[in-house]
Amino acid sequence: MGRKYFTVSFDDGTEQDIRVIALMEKYGIRGTFNLSSGLFGQRNEGIFRVVRETLEDGSKRQIKVKYDHNILPLGRAKELYSRDFIEIAGHGAHHMHQARLTGNKLKDEIAGDAERLADIFGIEIRGHIFPFGKYNDECLNVMEDAGLIYGRLATSGAPDADFAFKAEHGIIHPTCRMTDAFAISLLERFINTPCSDEDMVFYFWGHSYELDYGTSCGRDAYLEELFKTAATSEEIKFVTNRELIDALTS
Ligand SMILES: [Zn+2]
Repeated sequence: MGRKYFTVSFDDGTEQDIRVIALMEKYGIRGTFNLSSGLFGQRNEGIFRVVRETLEDGSKRQIKVKYDHNILPLGRAKELYSRDFIEIAGHGAHHMHQARLTGNKLKDEIAGDAERLADIFGIEIRGHIFPFGKYNDECLNVMEDAGLIYGRLATSGAPDADFAFKAEHGIIHPTCRMTDAFAISLLERFINTPCSDEDMVFYFWGHSYELDYGTSCGRDAYLEELFKTAATSEEIKFVTNRELIDALTS
């Protein structure tokens, strides 16, 4: 009999992670935060951007939004992410487009980043999320040499997604992301679908600053509803990304 796994993944380490972590703690959600070792404390307030939101039927709309993008300072980050329901993974030392880098610069962004995060937090780092979801074969080789066993695409989901675990070269295909307005209805289908012999996975990712978009899904109440819905299921096993990989590959 397969099992149902639920995991979350948030990139960039911005101040809004405080709100996400409070909700995770409230509902017993486990997950992974993807941090850049060279960017703690970076402030970049009041960003305007045109963002794409995926609606319930899978169609997209573009909205101009404003949000703050302030990365937590090191002391606060150490305190916030050192909790037993949180895993830390790398996200590139300086959040660069790694497919455009080569040689030592690329190694430092991936392997050096993981080493520095391991030193800072006193833990082992096993995941690396490529900034902008962009990578090439050299990036994958550097990852593998550094002992980093998994990554994740930066893609949206689809309302008709199945819940099979998918990954190539350790790079996981997420089920949906925070800007997908169908995330809750998809989760309801995940909960209501009987588990067969195959394991089922609901992998949700996003950026916590997307909570400030003010779109139909970019709000704290929407994320809370998602977590609350997941928490009502007695079948779901809540895992960090690494725990998911360990469970599915052991
Ligand atoms: Zn990022």
